[in-house]
Amino acid sequence: MPYDVPHIINGQPIVIKERNLNIYNPATGEVIGHVGVADQLLVDKAVKAAQSAFETWSTTPPPQRAKILFQYKFLLDQNIDQLAKLVTQEHGKTLAEAKASVQRGIDVVDYTCGIPNHLKGSFAEEVAKDMDCYSLHQPLGVCAGITPFNFPAMIALWMFPMAIACGNTFILKPSEKDPSCSVRLIELAMEAGVPKGVINLVHGDKETVDVLLMHPGIKAISFVGSSAVAEHVHQTATIHNKRVQAFGGAKNHCIVMPDADPDQVADALVTSAYGSAGERCMALSVATIIGEKFTDALIAKMKPRIEQLKIGPGTEAGVEMGPLVTQQHWERVKSYIDIGKQEGATLVVDGSEYKPKNFESGFFMGGTLFDHVKPSMRIYREEIFGPVLSIVRTPDLNTALKLVNEHEYGNGTAIFTRDGYAARTFAEKVQAGMVGINVPVPVPVAYQSFGGWKRSIFSDIGMYGSEAVRFYTKLKTVTQRWFPRT
Ligand code: NAD
Repeated sequence: MPYDVPHIINGQPIVIKERNLNIYNPATGEVIGHVGVADQLLVDKAVKAAQSAFETWSTTPPPQRAKILFQYKFLLDQNIDQLAKLVTQEHGKTLAEAKASVQRGIDVVDYTCGIPNHLKGSFAEEVAKDMDCYSLHQPLGVCAGITPFNFPAMIALWMFPMAIACGNTFILKPSEKDPSCSVRLIELAMEAGVPKGVINLVHGDKETVDVLLMHPGIKAISFVGSSAVAEHVHQTATIHNKRVQAFGGAKNHCIVMPDADPDQVADALVTSAYGSAGERCMALSVATIIGEKFTDALIAKMKPRIEQLKIGPGTEAGVEMGPLVTQQHWERVKSYIDIGKQEGATLVVDGSEYKPKNFESGFFMGGTLFDHVKPSMRIYREEIFGPVLSIVRTPDLNTALKLVNEHEYGNGTAIFTRDGYAARTFAEKVQAGMVGINVPVPVPVAYQSFGGWKRSIFSDIGMYGSEAVRFYTKLKTVTQRWFPRT
């Protein structure tokens, strides 16, 4: 019997069924649940609850807020397996991948526990006679977060814990494709002591997002998703006077120098490109390999690995790659594989028709590898967001670097080499926000900050770490002079 996923407003679960969307188990293709689309009325209700909670929450001392966040982190740690199961059930990735992603979210909650320190500002004594100057970081009001399907727990945890730690209240709008784990995240936050109305949850698609973007009661929007939607979010929220950070899509290149260790690189490329079925904004999807012979040798190492990937339901032990999230997404990825063939790229491994036994109705696809990909091809230029890796053969580092830098996306990138000077030159010159040196998925740790460049971001402020404190607070600088009583 399919379940209904509730909205949560002012601590109360609400199920509405006027416009319902299906939730699938990607491993079987079955409809396992429904989620209602929040309309203007429901969003109004959520904004009112958040505005009312803001009055008390914003004046709750940061050390008291930190105590609740410590308790939240403790509950998340205790419930990590259950959260991972919810991710796998609706997203499809393996339990190990799901658990690792929840952990990456918990790491950010860990950072928010230091909020009294992060908010303490600076103080300049005696800037003139009897005069001091100091800074305050004050909350914005009601903030909203809109998340993509690929990391339903992690990206939500990148947003609301820091927003509320800074004294704001929050409305989360998760992806309609896998909304259940966000319900559990918010239940646990309330169990930890977050007061009613401080975090609210509304579900939906474009209809709900557009209401949030234009709502006068919302002060800031944090968005993660595809670039086309990120651009729309950035424009609309800006017109409606909101602070906005919008993170978009990616086409992450790596450069493989001929001195790199071929076994290490083959391993790194396979895990990065095909992990989470390629549905990661930091997955490597283009390998620019230097030298013809070295490219042939690397392909010879990778091909059997890709063909032998263990593909199946994410809940099964030993599975390395789960299904894609929906049939619609499967068709999109498949269409790119067809385009690549038509464009004349060499199809080294074709995973497009692969179905594991007994799961023929699931949204499965095998790993696909294209060689001789050219920068003019659509499979090179556009984001595929599936288990497809393209190899571009390049003669030298400068040519490879030029390719990376001329691509419209600039999220993550990596170089594989044993040459320190090449690595240093790459880190200095590459046009991308997150750089790996012999690290294939260079997602920064929770106490640094996350963010791409170019069309991978529409704003100039990163996610989590100190950037998040800046995003979720307004700076006020006080200059004071006190005179002696006469
Ligand atoms: P998406 O853009 O389709 O959806 C993201 C969110 O926007 C969802 O909550 C969805 O309900 C909403 N939405 C969808 N269409 C909309 C529209 N027309 N108007 C308003 N809102 C809309 O993205 P997705 O398919 O859920 O996620 C995959 C994309 O996210 C990929 O492009 C991936 O690269 C990107 N991503 C980027 C990062 C990053 O940090 N840069 C991280 C994860 C995912």
